[in-house]
Amino acid sequence: MSTIPPTIVVCPNCGRKNRVPAAAHGTPRCSNCHRPLPWIVEGNDTTFAEVADQATIPVLVDLWAPWCGPCRSVSPVLESLAREFAGRVKLVKVNVDESPAIAQRFQARGIPLLLVLSGGAAVSEHVGAAPEQVLRPWLEKALEVASTRRAAQPS
Ligand SMILES: [Zn+2]
Repeated sequence: MSTIPPTIVVCPNCGRKNRVPAAAHGTPRCSNCHRPLPWIVEGNDTTFAEVADQATIPVLVDLWAPWCGPCRSVSPVLESLAREFAGRVKLVKVNVDESPAIAQRFQARGIPLLLVLSGGAAVSEHVGAAPEQVLRPWLEKALEVASTRRAAQPS
Protein backbone atom coordinates (compact mmCIF):
# COMPACT_ATOMS: atom_id res chain seq x y z
CA MET A 1 0.00 0.00 0.00
CA SER A 2 1.18 3.48 -0.79
CA THR A 3 1.95 5.85 2.06
CA ILE A 4 1.47 8.86 -0.22
CA PRO A 5 -1.90 10.50 0.45
CA PRO A 6 -4.47 10.41 -2.37
CA THR A 7 -5.71 13.57 -4.07
CA ILE A 8 -9.28 14.55 -4.84
CA VAL A 9 -9.92 14.82 -8.57
CA VAL A 10 -13.17 16.15 -10.00
CA CYS A 11 -14.25 14.06 -12.99
CA PRO A 12 -14.16 16.29 -16.10
CA ASN A 13 -17.01 14.26 -17.58
CA CYS A 14 -19.61 14.02 -14.79
CA GLY A 15 -18.31 16.20 -11.96
CA ARG A 16 -18.02 13.40 -9.38
CA LYS A 17 -15.23 13.90 -6.84
CA ASN A 18 -12.87 10.93 -6.78
CA ARG A 19 -10.04 9.99 -4.43
CA VAL A 20 -7.11 9.24 -6.71
CA PRO A 21 -4.07 7.37 -5.34
CA ALA A 22 -0.57 8.63 -6.17
CA ALA A 23 0.40 5.15 -7.29
CA ALA A 24 -1.72 2.25 -8.49
CA HIS A 25 -1.89 -0.47 -11.11
CA GLY A 26 -3.49 0.66 -14.34
CA THR A 27 -5.18 4.06 -14.45
CA PRO A 28 -7.69 5.77 -12.16
CA ARG A 29 -11.27 5.84 -13.39
CA CYS A 30 -14.28 7.80 -12.23
CA SER A 31 -16.34 5.82 -9.71
CA ASN A 32 -19.53 7.16 -11.30
CA CYS A 33 -19.08 7.23 -15.11
CA HIS A 34 -15.95 5.03 -15.36
CA ARG A 35 -14.11 7.39 -17.70
CA PRO A 36 -10.34 7.64 -17.14
CA LEU A 37 -9.41 10.49 -14.79
CA PRO A 38 -6.50 12.89 -15.30
CA TRP A 39 -3.58 11.65 -13.20
CA ILE A 40 -1.31 14.45 -11.96
CA VAL A 41 0.97 13.81 -8.98
CA GLU A 42 4.09 15.17 -7.35
CA GLY A 43 7.23 13.09 -7.11
CA ASN A 44 10.49 13.50 -5.20
CA ASP A 45 13.60 11.51 -4.33
CA THR A 46 11.61 9.38 -1.88
CA THR A 47 8.48 8.74 -3.93
CA PHE A 48 9.70 8.76 -7.53
CA ALA A 49 10.24 5.00 -7.80
CA GLU A 50 6.73 4.32 -6.61
CA VAL A 51 4.84 7.03 -8.52
CA ALA A 52 6.88 7.00 -11.76
CA ASP A 53 9.21 4.01 -12.24
CA GLN A 54 6.59 1.47 -11.19
CA ALA A 55 3.70 3.05 -13.10
CA THR A 56 2.03 0.67 -15.55
CA ILE A 57 1.26 3.45 -18.05
CA PRO A 58 3.72 5.92 -19.63
CA VAL A 59 4.76 8.77 -17.35
CA LEU A 60 5.34 12.37 -18.39
CA VAL A 61 7.92 13.79 -15.98
CA ASP A 62 8.16 17.56 -15.49
CA LEU A 63 11.45 18.55 -13.84
CA TRP A 64 10.94 22.12 -12.68
CA ALA A 65 11.91 24.65 -10.00
CA PRO A 66 10.00 27.54 -8.41
CA TRP A 67 12.56 30.14 -9.61
CA CYS A 68 12.37 29.00 -13.24
CA GLY A 69 10.14 31.30 -15.34
CA PRO A 70 9.87 29.00 -18.39
CA CYS A 71 8.83 26.17 -16.04
CA ARG A 72 5.87 28.24 -14.87
CA SER A 73 4.76 28.75 -18.46
CA VAL A 74 5.06 25.09 -19.44
CA SER A 75 3.37 23.59 -16.33
CA PRO A 76 -0.22 24.53 -17.25
CA VAL A 77 0.35 23.19 -20.78
CA LEU A 78 1.44 19.84 -19.35
CA GLU A 79 -1.53 19.74 -16.99
CA SER A 80 -3.88 20.43 -19.88
CA LEU A 81 -2.23 17.62 -21.91
CA ALA A 82 -2.53 15.28 -18.92
CA ARG A 83 -6.27 15.98 -18.89
CA GLU A 84 -6.54 15.52 -22.65
CA PHE A 85 -4.57 12.24 -22.54
CA ALA A 86 -6.27 10.92 -19.38
CA GLY A 87 -5.91 7.15 -19.21
CA ARG A 88 -2.88 7.15 -21.52
CA VAL A 89 -0.32 9.10 -19.50
CA LYS A 90 0.43 10.06 -15.92
CA LEU A 91 2.00 13.44 -15.16
CA VAL A 92 4.62 13.45 -12.41
CA LYS A 93 5.95 16.86 -11.34
CA VAL A 94 9.35 16.96 -9.67
CA ASN A 95 10.76 20.06 -7.98
CA VAL A 96 14.50 19.62 -8.70
CA ASP A 97 15.51 21.84 -5.74
CA GLU A 98 13.89 19.32 -3.40
CA SER A 99 14.87 16.23 -5.40
CA PRO A 100 18.64 16.30 -6.07
CA ALA A 101 18.84 12.56 -6.74
CA ILE A 102 16.21 12.69 -9.47
CA ALA A 103 17.79 15.82 -10.99
CA GLN A 104 21.11 13.97 -11.04
CA ARG A 105 19.63 10.78 -12.47
CA PHE A 106 18.20 12.62 -15.48
CA GLN A 107 21.12 15.07 -15.71
CA ALA A 108 18.76 18.02 -15.47
CA ARG A 109 21.20 20.81 -16.31
CA GLY A 110 18.55 22.87 -18.07
CA ILE A 111 14.95 23.05 -16.93
CA PRO A 112 12.17 22.58 -17.62
CA LEU A 113 13.28 19.10 -18.60
CA LEU A 114 10.40 16.96 -19.82
CA LEU A 115 10.72 13.19 -20.11
CA VAL A 116 8.44 10.37 -21.10
CA LEU A 117 9.20 7.20 -19.16
CA SER A 118 8.00 3.73 -19.94
CA GLY A 119 8.71 1.14 -17.26
CA GLY A 120 11.18 3.57 -15.67
CA ALA A 121 13.21 4.06 -18.88
CA ALA A 122 13.20 7.35 -20.80
CA VAL A 123 11.80 6.99 -24.32
CA SER A 124 11.85 10.70 -25.12
CA GLU A 125 12.99 13.99 -23.67
CA HIS A 126 12.44 17.68 -24.33
CA VAL A 127 14.50 20.49 -22.83
CA GLY A 128 13.07 23.97 -22.41
CA ALA A 129 9.63 25.49 -22.59
CA ALA A 130 7.54 25.16 -25.73
CA PRO A 131 3.96 25.96 -26.69
CA GLU A 132 1.18 23.39 -26.71
CA GLN A 133 1.29 23.00 -30.50
CA VAL A 134 4.87 21.71 -30.11
CA LEU A 135 4.40 19.67 -26.94
CA ARG A 136 1.23 17.82 -28.00
CA PRO A 137 2.80 16.15 -31.10
CA TRP A 138 5.99 15.51 -29.08
CA LEU A 139 3.95 13.72 -26.41
CA GLU A 140 1.89 11.79 -28.98
CA LYS A 141 5.05 10.55 -30.67
CA ALA A 142 6.61 9.57 -27.33
CA LEU A 143 3.48 7.63 -26.32
CA GLU A 144 3.62 5.79 -29.64
CA VAL A 145 7.23 4.82 -28.99
CA ALA A 146 6.30 3.75 -25.46
CA SER A 147 3.44 1.55 -26.65
CA THR A 148 5.63 -0.05 -29.35
CA ARG A 149 8.29 -0.89 -26.74
CA ARG A 150 5.66 -2.24 -24.39
CA ALA A 151 4.19 -4.44 -27.13
CA ALA A 152 7.67 -5.77 -27.95
CA GLN A 153 8.30 -6.87 -24.35
CA PRO A 154 7.49 -10.49 -23.54
CA SER A 155 4.75 -10.59 -20.93
ZN1 LIG B 1 -17.29 10.74 -14.04
